[in-house]
Amino acid sequence: MESAKKQSKESVEQELTSGIRILMEKNRLTACLDCGKCSAVCPMVRVYGEYVHNRGTRSIVERLSFDPEGLADETLWYCLACKECTFFCPSGVDFQNFMMGFRELMISHGHKEYAHFCSQCGAYLMPKRQLEVLKTTMNGTADLLYECPNCKKNRHGAVLFKLSSKGRSFTLQT
Ligand code: SF4
Ligand code: SF4
Repeated sequence: MESAKKQSKESVEQELTSGIRILMEKNRLTACLDCGKCSAVCPMVRVYGEYVHNRGTRSIVERLSFDPEGLADETLWYCLACKECTFFCPSGVDFQNFMMGFRELMISHGHKEYAHFCSQCGAYLMPKRQLEVLKTTMNGTADLLYECPNCKKNRHGAVLFKLSSKGRSFTLQT
């Protein structure tokens, strides 16, 4: 029983690793020229503080290319998905697209520790670290960050509709 569990855990991890390799190929991570342009334009540094090499885009590309098993690292969740690195890469590496697929794969294989999910429906929203940074900019409205746009729409849509109807009838009466 114990060995069957271990084997199934191993096969899940193997499936994850091979999914990551496919994503790396598809998004040309292995075509990286090591030029550093992506790190130079990446806004992660400004958001998370001083430059630390192993948090940089180029370092992450390099690590995943040469050590794709090193997945238990929160810096892999620091990317803001802004696409600047993809735009400036001279070798066609689409790191932003890779990151989106990578996070989906990690979550679907049970690696949820660095992900933040909607408090209502449980859908993936953003990395936890990103939530922490955003919270500091919200001036008392941080509660809005805990629900996905669909849940916000469903929960508050009726109120907004009533308000807009009142507004319309008010306009008609005057
Ligand atoms: S810009 Fe492209 S080629 Fe240059 S280091 Fe970044 S991923 Fe590699
Ligand atoms: S997509 Fe991610 S890694 Fe690329 S520049 Fe934006 S934050 Fe940096």
